Amino acid sequence: MSEYFAVAIDGPAAAGKSTVAKRVARELGALYLDTGAMYRAVGLYMLRHGVSLDDAEGIAHRAGEARVDVRYVDGIQRVFLCGEDVSQAIRENEVSAAASAVSAVPAVRKILMARQREIAAGSSVVMDGRDIGTKVLPDAPVKVFLTASAEVRARRRFEELSAKGQPVPYERLLEEIRQRDHNDATRAASPMVQAADAQLLDSSDMTVEQVVAAIVAMAREKMEGRR
Ligand code: C5P
Repeated sequence: MSEYFAVAIDGPAAAGKSTVAKRVARELGALYLDTGAMYRAVGLYMLRHGVSLDDAEGIAHRAGEARVDVRYVDGIQRVFLCGEDVSQAIRENEVSAAASAVSAVPAVRKILMARQREIAAGSSVVMDGRDIGTKVLPDAPVKVFLTASAEVRARRRFEELSAKGQPVPYERLLEEIRQRDHNDATRAASPMVQAADAQLLDSSDMTVEQVVAAIVAMAREKMEGRR
């Protein structure tokens, strides 16, 4: 058994995974890894280089050029693309669809998954994504599938973008979330599914604090059992 501990948090877009995972990591003294940010960086690379998001072969061909690096500055994850800090640029709304498109390409998944496993091999982690409990860390002692209704998620994204001064109409965000759910759940390569041994948490009517407390309790129980 690895000396390190892992918590896998999967679920659809805007379910609150990163907010929750960050806080859980802080409480457990583990590293937080946002794997979606890595797919976003590859998506950004393809957008910048004019690679069509419909061109799976072209994306696969150029996947190796998109050097994605994750570093921690004062405990905060920063994502680098070919040496440039793109932590902010990957949050632009158009990058979401690009990330979803590149994430369906097996060559991209293979590269990023290897890097994600490498990080988990060197530290206790709380990792969030779509395939962490099923593919990246299938032996993680704590697995959570965090979801919320599409409407609640679109509303949260709307508020988040509005607060940043980048308002996007709610109806459009709802449509984009539904489209991304569909893409992520139906793609052939590592589709988003709840792992058989994952705990389902629906955050529609839960506060962030309640979700964090539930996951930390699960993790502490497992940690006790390992002693
Ligand atoms: O989590 P976030 O919304 O930032 O992820 C962006 C996109 O990256 C998702 O829509 C999904 O298509 C993809 N992704 C993935 N596997 C992961 C994390 C993200 O396919 N482990």
